[in-house]
Amino acid sequence: MNTKKPMLSVQEALDFLLGAARAVNETETLSTVDATGRVLAVDQLSQLDVPPMDNTQMDGYAVRSIDCASGTAVLPVSQRIPAGHVGQPLQPGTVARIFTGALIPEGADAVVMQEQCTVDHATARVTVNHSPKSGEWIRRRGEDIRSGSTILARGTRLRAQEIGLAASVGLASLPVFRRLKVAVFFTGDELTMPGEPLKPGSIYNSNRFTLRGLLQQLGCEVTDLGNVPDSFDATRDALRKAASGHDLIVTSGGVSVGEEDHVKPAVESEGKLNMWQIAMKPGKPLAFGEVRRAGQPDTAFFIGLPGNPVSSFVTFLLFVRPFIHALQGGNVAPPRRYPMRADFDWSRPDRRNEFLRVRINDHQGLELFPNQSSGVLTSTVWGDGLVDNPPGQAIQAGDAVNFIPFSELLY
Ligand code: AMP
Ligand code: MG
Repeated sequence: MNTKKPMLSVQEALDFLLGAARAVNETETLSTVDATGRVLAVDQLSQLDVPPMDNTQMDGYAVRSIDCASGTAVLPVSQRIPAGHVGQPLQPGTVARIFTGALIPEGADAVVMQEQCTVDHATARVTVNHSPKSGEWIRRRGEDIRSGSTILARGTRLRAQEIGLAASVGLASLPVFRRLKVAVFFTGDELTMPGEPLKPGSIYNSNRFTLRGLLQQLGCEVTDLGNVPDSFDATRDALRKAASGHDLIVTSGGVSVGEEDHVKPAVESEGKLNMWQIAMKPGKPLAFGEVRRAGQPDTAFFIGLPGNPVSSFVTFLLFVRPFIHALQGGNVAPPRRYPMRADFDWSRPDRRNEFLRVRINDHQGLELFPNQSSGVLTSTVWGDGLVDNPPGQAIQAGDAVNFIPFSELLY
């Protein structure tokens, strides 16, 4: 008798996760300079036009274009306007010496760059060897941003460029969602920490470092409960600690269905759990559920990742990252994929959706890491990203494949 449940597709599992996500609703106001990496809680409008006034894009001479219409004009310099200073209205038949960023004086309608002019310092006259069009080299008031327009939408993850844009319209502080509190622990009797000698049968706990790094990059506040032995009681105790004061618990290992895998019964005793088999490689087992908080009506979310280092890395990128975006109050967008040429053959595809570690070569094609096994962490360092290969799809050199760069998945 076949009692196996059908496997979920990657999209089905993701839809389920995002459907269950509850965003944090507490917000705080931070100084703009401290808001990098946070998620914006309220739409931000500009109270000003940017630029606030017409100004020059070049060092040169502000002119009336009709004074220069003949091709070559010799005109007196009637004033000098550096950036940050306000000039006088331009007298007809004269030019104003002007420097990048300075306001265009009233009456002028173009700037001629200094390379197209010759100055005679003795007579304070300039020969303008160019007939500018009206508006030439002028940055118009409001051409970048109009007063009253939305410059940043609620749910935007604030990168350096968003922070810069907010500052450019004078916003000194920004309302953001509070940071997500995430507890992590790692199951496995074999786990040893770097710095300790490796006993026979042990391995270093690399997932602890990878997952903490990923959570940190996503702006989470991380509590690390460390290595947890393979026992029901130890796993349950770790879960109880993790649930208190955290929004989300992320673990690695122990989610297969062997008798050394205690995550399932422990989560079930403390809350509820879905054990998923996802039709993906690397990956496959993923646990999602909720853990009760002692003495409180609410729960912490729980995600149990597989122990194999590449599996836990890839399932984090594909599932935990968007789930965290949703909990943080951010807009969740699928990672961009780029059609690229495979410069390799993949003649024995799996029945599951594969995520192959590949690298961009010098010929704008993709090269495959030779060992695609889910324990080979080297592939994640060697690679530039993943090929999302549909179930059962063979690849021949020259085929177009779906490439997701790691850079799309690491913020
Ligand atoms: P598990 O999911 O617990 O069955 O573990 C699957 C494989 O991943 C085993 O070879 C484990 O030794 C390995 N593994 C589990 N946890 C970690 C970890 N934190 N760091 C590195 N490898 C791990
Ligand atoms: Mg284990």
